[in-house]
Amino acid sequence: MRTSHPLDLSGKVAVVTGGNGGIGLGIARGLAQAGCQVAIWARNTTKSKAAVAQLQGLGADAAAFQCDVTARGSVQAAAAATVAQFGGIDGMFANAGIGGGGRVSFLERQPEDWAEMINVNLYGAFHACQAALAQMKLQAETGRRSGRIVLTSSIADHFGTAANEHYALTKAGLSSLARSISVEFARYGVTANALVPGYTETEMTTGLFESEKFTKAVMPRTPARRFGTPEDFAGIAIYLMSDLSAYHTGDSLVIDGGYSVN
Ligand code: NDP
Repeated sequence: MRTSHPLDLSGKVAVVTGGNGGIGLGIARGLAQAGCQVAIWARNTTKSKAAVAQLQGLGADAAAFQCDVTARGSVQAAAAATVAQFGGIDGMFANAGIGGGGRVSFLERQPEDWAEMINVNLYGAFHACQAALAQMKLQAETGRRSGRIVLTSSIADHFGTAANEHYALTKAGLSSLARSISVEFARYGVTANALVPGYTETEMTTGLFESEKFTKAVMPRTPARRFGTPEDFAGIAIYLMSDLSAYHTGDSLVIDGGYSVN
Protein backbone atom coordinates (compact mmCIF):
# COMPACT_ATOMS: atom_id res chain seq x y z
CA MET A 1 0.00 0.00 0.00
CA ARG A 2 1.36 3.49 -0.86
CA THR A 3 1.76 5.82 2.08
CA SER A 4 1.21 9.55 1.65
CA HIS A 5 4.17 11.73 0.69
CA PRO A 6 5.93 13.22 3.75
CA LEU A 7 5.43 16.72 2.33
CA ASP A 8 1.69 16.13 1.94
CA LEU A 9 0.07 18.66 4.31
CA SER A 10 -3.47 17.26 4.14
CA GLY A 11 -5.23 17.56 7.48
CA LYS A 12 -3.04 20.45 8.66
CA VAL A 13 -4.22 24.02 9.21
CA ALA A 14 -1.90 27.00 8.75
CA VAL A 15 -2.45 30.70 9.42
CA VAL A 16 -0.52 33.21 7.32
CA THR A 17 -0.65 36.76 8.64
CA GLY A 18 -0.24 39.23 5.80
CA GLY A 19 -1.12 36.33 3.51
CA ASN A 20 -3.10 38.44 1.05
CA GLY A 21 -0.06 39.61 -0.91
CA GLY A 22 3.70 39.51 -1.34
CA ILE A 23 5.76 36.91 0.52
CA GLY A 24 2.74 35.87 2.62
CA LEU A 25 0.77 34.94 -0.48
CA GLY A 26 3.80 33.02 -1.82
CA ILE A 27 3.82 31.05 1.44
CA ALA A 28 0.04 30.53 1.35
CA ARG A 29 0.13 29.31 -2.25
CA GLY A 30 2.89 26.81 -1.47
CA LEU A 31 1.02 25.45 1.55
CA ALA A 32 -2.22 25.24 -0.46
CA GLN A 33 -0.51 23.29 -3.24
CA ALA A 34 0.71 20.77 -0.66
CA GLY A 35 -2.87 20.19 0.58
CA CYS A 36 -2.80 22.39 3.70
CA GLN A 37 -5.89 24.25 4.83
CA VAL A 38 -4.99 27.93 4.88
CA ALA A 39 -6.37 30.87 6.87
CA ILE A 40 -5.27 34.34 5.78
CA TRP A 41 -5.25 37.06 8.40
CA ALA A 42 -4.91 40.61 7.05
CA ARG A 43 -6.77 43.93 7.01
CA ASN A 44 -7.62 44.59 3.35
CA THR A 45 -10.65 42.40 2.62
CA THR A 46 -10.62 42.99 -1.14
CA LYS A 47 -7.05 41.72 -1.41
CA SER A 48 -7.82 38.85 0.96
CA LYS A 49 -10.84 37.75 -1.11
CA ALA A 50 -8.69 37.67 -4.25
CA ALA A 51 -5.99 35.69 -2.41
CA VAL A 52 -8.52 33.13 -1.15
CA ALA A 53 -9.87 32.73 -4.70
CA GLN A 54 -6.30 31.97 -5.86
CA LEU A 55 -5.85 29.35 -3.13
CA GLN A 56 -9.22 27.77 -3.89
CA GLY A 57 -8.20 27.71 -7.56
CA LEU A 58 -5.30 25.50 -6.46
CA GLY A 59 -7.83 23.12 -4.90
CA ALA A 60 -7.27 24.26 -1.32
CA ASP A 61 -9.66 24.74 1.55
CA ALA A 62 -8.95 28.40 2.36
CA ALA A 63 -10.56 31.36 4.09
CA ALA A 64 -9.70 34.89 5.09
CA PHE A 65 -10.34 36.52 8.45
CA GLN A 66 -10.06 40.28 8.70
CA CYS A 67 -7.41 40.99 11.29
CA ASP A 68 -5.19 43.84 12.40
CA VAL A 69 -2.26 42.13 14.10
CA THR A 70 -1.58 45.19 16.24
CA ALA A 71 -4.98 44.82 17.93
CA ARG A 72 -5.00 42.00 20.45
CA GLY A 73 -8.81 41.58 20.33
CA SER A 74 -8.74 41.39 16.54
CA VAL A 75 -6.11 38.63 16.65
CA GLN A 76 -8.00 36.68 19.30
CA ALA A 77 -11.21 36.92 17.25
CA ALA A 78 -9.39 35.72 14.12
CA ALA A 79 -7.93 32.79 16.07
CA ALA A 80 -11.35 31.79 17.40
CA ALA A 81 -12.90 32.06 13.93
CA THR A 82 -10.08 30.00 12.41
CA VAL A 83 -10.47 27.24 14.99
CA ALA A 84 -14.27 27.29 14.55
CA GLN A 85 -13.94 26.90 10.77
CA PHE A 86 -10.95 24.54 10.46
CA GLY A 87 -10.88 22.74 13.82
CA GLY A 88 -7.44 23.89 14.99
CA ILE A 89 -4.19 25.68 14.16
CA ASP A 90 -1.06 23.65 13.33
CA GLY A 91 1.03 26.43 11.81
CA MET A 92 1.44 30.15 12.47
CA PHE A 93 3.35 32.02 9.77
CA ALA A 94 3.66 35.42 11.49
CA ASN A 95 4.61 37.30 8.36
CA ALA A 96 2.65 40.59 8.44
CA GLY A 97 5.01 43.53 8.60
CA ILE A 98 5.86 47.00 7.45
CA GLY A 99 9.12 48.24 5.98
CA GLY A 100 8.99 51.82 7.14
CA GLY A 101 9.17 53.60 3.79
CA GLY A 102 12.34 55.43 2.85
CA ARG A 103 15.60 55.77 4.68
CA VAL A 104 15.88 58.51 7.29
CA SER A 105 18.99 59.26 9.32
CA PHE A 106 18.84 57.98 12.89
CA LEU A 107 19.18 61.61 14.01
CA GLU A 108 15.98 62.53 12.18
CA ARG A 109 14.02 59.41 13.13
CA GLN A 110 10.72 60.31 14.78
CA PRO A 111 9.50 58.48 17.89
CA GLU A 112 6.16 57.86 16.11
CA ASP A 113 7.94 55.94 13.30
CA TRP A 114 9.86 53.95 15.89
CA ALA A 115 6.69 53.09 17.82
CA GLU A 116 4.70 52.11 14.72
CA MET A 117 7.46 49.76 13.53
CA ILE A 118 7.59 48.02 16.88
CA ASN A 119 3.83 47.92 17.12
CA VAL A 120 3.28 46.17 13.77
CA ASN A 121 6.40 44.02 13.47
CA LEU A 122 6.92 43.00 17.10
CA TYR A 123 3.61 43.39 18.93
CA GLY A 124 1.87 41.96 15.85
CA ALA A 125 3.99 38.80 16.02
CA PHE A 126 3.58 38.66 19.81
CA HIS A 127 -0.24 38.68 19.61
CA ALA A 128 -0.35 36.22 16.71
CA CYS A 129 2.13 33.74 18.23
CA GLN A 130 0.52 33.88 21.65
CA ALA A 131 -2.93 33.09 20.22
CA ALA A 132 -1.53 30.25 18.10
CA LEU A 133 0.63 28.76 20.85
CA ALA A 134 -2.28 28.69 23.32
CA GLN A 135 -4.21 26.64 20.74
CA MET A 136 -1.20 24.41 19.91
CA LYS A 137 -0.71 23.66 23.61
CA LEU A 138 -4.37 22.61 23.92
CA GLN A 139 -4.05 20.45 20.83
CA ALA A 140 -0.86 18.81 22.14
CA GLU A 141 -2.76 17.70 25.24
CA THR A 142 -5.02 15.65 22.96
CA GLY A 143 -2.09 14.17 21.00
CA ARG A 144 -1.98 16.69 18.12
CA ARG A 145 1.69 17.59 18.55
CA SER A 146 2.28 19.27 15.21
CA GLY A 147 2.73 22.96 16.05
CA ARG A 148 4.87 25.16 13.81
CA ILE A 149 5.80 28.80 14.40
CA VAL A 150 7.51 30.60 11.52
CA LEU A 151 8.41 34.27 11.98
CA THR A 152 9.33 36.36 8.94
CA SER A 153 12.56 38.15 9.83
CA SER A 154 14.89 39.76 7.24
CA ILE A 155 18.52 39.87 6.16
CA ALA A 156 18.37 43.38 7.64
CA ASP A 157 19.01 41.49 10.90
CA HIS A 158 22.41 40.36 9.56
CA PHE A 159 23.86 43.73 8.60
CA GLY A 160 24.22 47.20 9.95
CA THR A 161 21.18 48.81 8.33
CA ALA A 162 21.85 52.53 8.01
CA ALA A 163 18.88 54.88 8.24
CA ASN A 164 16.37 52.06 8.67
CA GLU A 165 17.57 50.87 12.06
CA HIS A 166 14.10 50.55 13.56
CA TYR A 167 13.14 48.00 10.88
CA ALA A 168 16.33 45.98 11.40
CA LEU A 169 15.90 45.83 15.16
CA THR A 170 12.36 44.47 14.88
CA LYS A 171 13.62 41.77 12.53
CA ALA A 172 16.44 40.88 14.96
CA GLY A 173 13.76 40.65 17.64
CA LEU A 174 11.78 38.16 15.58
CA SER A 175 14.78 35.86 15.06
CA SER A 176 15.36 35.98 18.80
CA LEU A 177 11.69 35.28 19.53
CA ALA A 178 11.81 32.17 17.32
CA ARG A 179 14.74 30.81 19.33
CA SER A 180 13.04 31.49 22.67
CA ILE A 181 9.72 29.95 21.60
CA SER A 182 11.57 26.90 20.27
CA VAL A 183 12.95 26.22 23.75
CA GLU A 184 9.79 26.82 25.78
CA PHE A 185 7.35 24.99 23.51
CA ALA A 186 9.38 21.95 22.36
CA ARG A 187 7.63 19.94 25.09
CA TYR A 188 4.36 20.38 23.17
CA GLY A 189 5.86 19.20 19.87
CA VAL A 190 6.10 22.77 18.59
CA THR A 191 9.04 23.96 16.47
CA ALA A 192 9.83 27.65 15.95
CA ASN A 193 12.06 29.12 13.27
CA ALA A 194 12.72 32.43 11.55
CA LEU A 195 12.41 32.79 7.81
CA VAL A 196 14.96 35.31 6.57
CA PRO A 197 14.16 36.79 3.16
CA GLY A 198 16.58 38.84 1.12
CA TYR A 199 15.43 41.51 -1.33
CA THR A 200 12.13 40.26 -2.74
CA GLU A 201 9.77 41.77 -5.31
CA THR A 202 6.61 42.77 -3.46
CA GLU A 203 4.54 45.89 -2.83
CA MET A 204 6.88 46.73 0.04
CA THR A 205 9.92 47.00 -2.23
CA THR A 206 8.36 48.51 -5.37
CA GLY A 207 9.95 51.93 -4.83
CA LEU A 208 13.31 50.41 -3.94
CA PHE A 209 13.53 48.22 -7.04
CA GLU A 210 12.65 51.14 -9.30
CA SER A 211 15.86 52.85 -8.19
CA GLU A 212 18.71 52.20 -10.61
CA LYS A 213 21.23 53.07 -7.89
CA PHE A 214 19.82 50.33 -5.65
CA THR A 215 19.72 47.69 -8.40
CA LYS A 216 23.29 48.50 -9.46
CA ALA A 217 24.48 48.11 -5.88
CA VAL A 218 22.61 44.94 -4.96
CA MET A 219 22.47 42.84 -8.14
CA PRO A 220 26.25 42.31 -8.57
CA ARG A 221 26.37 41.14 -4.93
CA THR A 222 23.57 38.61 -5.49
CA PRO A 223 25.03 35.32 -6.78
CA ALA A 224 21.63 34.22 -8.13
CA ARG A 225 21.62 37.42 -10.26
CA ARG A 226 17.97 38.15 -9.61
CA PHE A 227 15.77 39.46 -6.82
CA GLY A 228 13.58 37.05 -4.91
CA THR A 229 9.93 36.50 -5.76
CA PRO A 230 7.08 35.41 -3.45
CA GLU A 231 7.18 31.97 -5.13
CA ASP A 232 10.70 31.45 -3.74
CA PHE A 233 9.14 30.99 -0.28
CA ALA A 234 6.76 28.17 -1.21
CA GLY A 235 9.21 25.28 -0.80
CA ILE A 236 10.60 26.35 2.56
CA ALA A 237 7.06 26.93 3.88
CA ILE A 238 5.99 23.42 2.87
CA TYR A 239 9.07 21.89 4.49
CA LEU A 240 8.67 23.85 7.73
CA MET A 241 4.99 22.94 7.95
CA SER A 242 5.62 19.24 7.28
CA ASP A 243 6.44 16.40 9.67
CA LEU A 244 9.89 16.20 8.01
CA SER A 245 10.99 19.35 9.88
CA ALA A 246 9.96 18.07 13.34
CA TYR A 247 13.57 18.18 14.63
CA HIS A 248 14.50 21.47 12.95
CA THR A 249 13.92 24.24 15.45
CA GLY A 250 15.39 27.48 16.77
CA ASP A 251 16.98 28.21 13.40
CA SER A 252 17.01 31.12 10.93
CA LEU A 253 16.59 30.02 7.33
CA VAL A 254 17.95 32.50 4.78
CA ILE A 255 16.33 32.77 1.34
CA ASP A 256 18.28 35.48 -0.47
CA GLY A 257 19.92 34.03 -3.60
CA GLY A 258 23.25 34.03 -1.75
CA TYR A 259 23.37 37.80 -1.10
CA SER A 260 24.34 37.57 2.55
CA VAL A 261 27.24 35.12 2.05
CA ASN A 262 28.84 37.03 -0.80
P1 NDP B 1 3.85 43.44 1.49
O1 NDP B 1 3.74 44.89 1.78
O2 NDP B 1 3.61 42.94 0.11
O3 NDP B 1 2.91 42.62 2.47
C1 NDP B 1 2.74 42.98 3.81
C2 NDP B 1 1.55 42.21 4.34
O4 NDP B 1 1.38 42.51 5.72
C3 NDP B 1 0.26 42.58 3.63
O5 NDP B 1 -0.42 41.40 3.33
C4 NDP B 1 -0.50 43.41 4.65
O6 NDP B 1 -1.91 43.19 4.49
C5 NDP B 1 0.02 42.81 5.96
N1 NDP B 1 -0.06 43.72 7.09
C6 NDP B 1 0.61 44.89 7.28
N2 NDP B 1 0.22 45.46 8.44
C7 NDP B 1 -0.70 44.64 9.00
C8 NDP B 1 -1.48 44.67 10.18
N3 NDP B 1 -1.39 45.68 11.05
N4 NDP B 1 -2.33 43.65 10.43
C9 NDP B 1 -2.43 42.61 9.57
N5 NDP B 1 -1.72 42.52 8.43
C10 NDP B 1 -0.89 43.54 8.15
O7 NDP B 1 5.32 43.06 2.00
P2 NDP B 1 6.21 41.76 1.86
O8 NDP B 1 5.45 40.62 1.35
O9 NDP B 1 7.46 42.19 1.20
O10 NDP B 1 6.57 41.53 3.40
C11 NDP B 1 6.16 40.39 4.13
C12 NDP B 1 7.14 40.21 5.27
O11 NDP B 1 8.43 39.93 4.73
C13 NDP B 1 7.31 41.45 6.16
O12 NDP B 1 7.39 41.05 7.50
C14 NDP B 1 8.64 42.03 5.69
O13 NDP B 1 9.28 42.77 6.69
C15 NDP B 1 9.39 40.78 5.33
N6 NDP B 1 10.52 40.98 4.42
C16 NDP B 1 10.32 41.46 3.14
C17 NDP B 1 11.40 41.62 2.30
C18 NDP B 1 11.25 42.12 0.89
O14 NDP B 1 12.29 42.39 0.23
N7 NDP B 1 10.03 42.23 0.35
C19 NDP B 1 12.77 41.32 2.74
C20 NDP B 1 12.86 40.82 4.09
C21 NDP B 1 11.76 40.66 4.88
P3 NDP B 1 -3.04 44.31 4.80
O15 NDP B 1 -2.47 45.63 4.37
O16 NDP B 1 -4.23 43.86 4.01
O17 NDP B 1 -3.27 44.22 6.26
